[in-house]
Amino acid sequence: MRTIIASLLVIVSATSGHAQERVPILDMHLHAYPGAQVGGQGLPNPVTGRPASSASDVALLQTTLAEMEKHGIILGVASGAPSHVERWRLAAPDRILAAIKVDEVSPFPDIAELRASILKGQVSMIGEIQAQHLGLAPDDAALEPYFALAAELDVPVSIHSGIGAPNTPFECCPEFRASLGNPLLLEPLLILYPGLRVNLMHAGYPYLDQTIALMTVYPNVYADLGAINWVIPRAEFHRYLNALITAGLGKRLMFGSDQMYWPEVIEWAIEGVNSASFLSDDQKRDILYHNAARFLRLSEEEIARHYGK
Ligand SMILES: [Zn+2]
Repeated sequence: MRTIIASLLVIVSATSGHAQERVPILDMHLHAYPGAQVGGQGLPNPVTGRPASSASDVALLQTTLAEMEKHGIILGVASGAPSHVERWRLAAPDRILAAIKVDEVSPFPDIAELRASILKGQVSMIGEIQAQHLGLAPDDAALEPYFALAAELDVPVSIHSGIGAPNTPFECCPEFRASLGNPLLLEPLLILYPGLRVNLMHAGYPYLDQTIALMTVYPNVYADLGAINWVIPRAEFHRYLNALITAGLGKRLMFGSDQMYWPEVIEWAIEGVNSASFLSDDQKRDILYHNAARFLRLSEEEIARHYGK
C-alpha cells in the first residue's frame, strides 16, 4: 500500500516538464484560531479583500486541514491560545504540532500550565511570541520566563520579527513599533541561552542585513518565510529570499504559510517558493521540508513515513 501511495506521489512538474518526486511539506507557521467575523462576514483577506469563507471554529479548522491534505503538508506547527491549539491537535494529532502564542490578544500563558503541557507532550513549541505587537523587545523581563522555560525543557521557540500590517499601531496594537522588529534585538537572549532553537518568523523581513548578521553568528537560529511568501509583492519576496540564499542560509530557511483565517493562502505561499527560479530542486526540498525536519529533530522513521516509505 505504501508503495502505491509513494508512486502516486510521483508527479509531473508543471514547470520543468520532467517527473519528480512530490516533496512532503512541513508548515512551521500556522495559526489555530477561532472563527472570526466582522459585520456578519468573515474577516477580509488582506490581499484580495474578500471575506473569509470559513468563519466558524469548525469550518476554519476543517478547511485548513483540507488545504494541508491537498497540498501535501504532512505536518504543521499551529499556534494560538491553549484551548484552540488543543482542539486542533486533537482533531489531527498526526498532522498538527501545538504551539502556544504569547501575544496582545489573550492573557499571557500560565507558566506552570505551559510546563505541564510540554511535559505531557501536548505542546511542542513556545510561540508565536509577538513581542513587537506588545511594544516589547524580545529580551524584556515580561517575556523572559518563556525563553527560560524553552531553554530548560529544550523546546524550540518562535518569535515574530520584521514588520506588521499597515496601521498596526492605530488599528491593532498601540505599542507596536516597526523598530522593535529588528532581528538583532534577539541577540541578548541568544547570549543568555546558548543553543536555544529559535525560529525567526517572517525571516526578519525587511531587515535583510540584520537577519544575515544574526543567522550567521548564531547557527541555532532558523527562519520561516510565513506571510512574506504571499502578502508582499512576489518579486520583492524573491529578491529577499534570493539574498538570504546567496548569503549561505539555504539550510536554515523553512516554509511557513502564516495561515490565519484564509486557507487559500496556503497554496499561494507554496507557490511563492516553487516559483523561485533561482532555487534548485534540492533547495526547494530543503525549504519545504528538510530544514524544518532538522530544526524539529524529527526521527529517521518519521521522515521515512512522511515520504511514504
Ligand atoms: Zn507573525
